[in-house]
Amino acid sequence: MAFISTRAPKGDRYSLAEALRLGPAPDGGLFMPETVEPLDATFFEQLPGQSLTATGKAVLAGLLGGKISADVLGTNALDTDALDTSVLNRIVDDALDFPIPLIEAAPGRHVLELFHGPTLAFKDVGARFLARLLEATQPAGRKSTVLVATSGDTGGAVAQAFHGLDGIDVVVLYPRGKVSPLQERQFTTLGGNVRAFAVDGVFDDCQRLVKEAFADRELAEQLGLTSANSINVGRLLPQAIYYVYASAQLEAAAAAPIFVVPSGNFGNLTAGLLAHRLGLDAQFVAATNRNDVVPEYLISGRFEPRPSVRTLSNAMDVGHPNNFERILHLFNGDKEALCGVVAGHRVDDSVTRDTIARVCREHGYLLDPHTAVGWAAADARGLDQAIVLATAHPAKFGEVVEPAIGGEVPIPEQLLQHLDKTVLSQPLDTGFEAFRRVLTT
Ligand SMILES: *Cc1c(COP(=O)(O)O)cnc(C)c1O
Repeated sequence: MAFISTRAPKGDRYSLAEALRLGPAPDGGLFMPETVEPLDATFFEQLPGQSLTATGKAVLAGLLGGKISADVLGTNALDTDALDTSVLNRIVDDALDFPIPLIEAAPGRHVLELFHGPTLAFKDVGARFLARLLEATQPAGRKSTVLVATSGDTGGAVAQAFHGLDGIDVVVLYPRGKVSPLQERQFTTLGGNVRAFAVDGVFDDCQRLVKEAFADRELAEQLGLTSANSINVGRLLPQAIYYVYASAQLEAAAAAPIFVVPSGNFGNLTAGLLAHRLGLDAQFVAATNRNDVVPEYLISGRFEPRPSVRTLSNAMDVGHPNNFERILHLFNGDKEALCGVVAGHRVDDSVTRDTIARVCREHGYLLDPHTAVGWAAADARGLDQAIVLATAHPAKFGEVVEPAIGGEVPIPEQLLQHLDKTVLSQPLDTGFEAFRRVLTT
């Protein structure tokens, strides 16, 4: 399977290893598989009853493999230049070592809980795959360094995903005193191949330092700098797995599922559309908070990015959703075709808060503010059957959820276990020279 840039579909072709290492394409576009062929119907008929990892192996073979045999759930399904089947299968077993349950939280309303990984958010899925794909495609004898600036959540997901892997170091930059103590501990207590620096500035300073490091050719080459940010195709592809897995668990007689996807940068929705391209019979709702550039496009046909505004679902506060370029690419820029598969809906904070309270009261189910946006969008569209993607555990957003429900949210073990560990980060000032020195020593 070759990868191409969204900006030059007929241009250069890249291997998986190159696409993973580059992050964005050299022309500024984003990598996509050159073709995604629909799997035949027998593939989907075999899925009910299969485990998450068996489904994952088959779906990734579909996305990465050239030719797929009818017996795709067998052992010899993959035909790719980059990875052989046994390597890919091991990656799937390793990366998806937590469950993704589909819960019927209210009649006809399913919730796909993507938050049972180490940092209790769906980004664990993509980050854990990217880490292992990078490790597996690393040229022999080479080392690389993953550089990430974080305002909170990404640092934890990336650090936990790469911790303990061979030949890859992780450097996390974060603004000192500006992330929550719980978040800080997710990436500062690991040690080993994960180093964290508390920058004496704001998030933008951290991001600038990362950019300067990538722009320093000599440094980038010497350290094998690699980015793990959310536009990396290695984070995107594995997210297609859980759409296929969830739909296989619904009643065979049920109509095509409608997935409601709480969206910010639109990577999660893009992955759903890749699953659709593989032949998954499904519809989608793109649910956003007030940052509704994409729902606006679906109505007006105009894509008008604008500065983001702060909301209760802050991981979705994105004013210029990068992955939208991938979605347009999948539909060849045809808005009508896109609207045939995806509807948009915007949810304001007051509704988000009310939804958390009401769903807790009426159904005893706790929603985090992001999942609540999805739930409210399903309600507003009058869906009597829907699968809402639950992107984070409610305990991660106790400051929003607890006042809404008037009670406490128990903190799960995965979060608590970091609290009593020692913070190992080092202070760093905002100048590039000091950063360059610590990177090279
Ligand atoms: C990142 C994130 C989202 C948005 O996902 P995109 O793929 O960027 O659309 C939604 N919810 C949570 C909790 C997130 O962390």
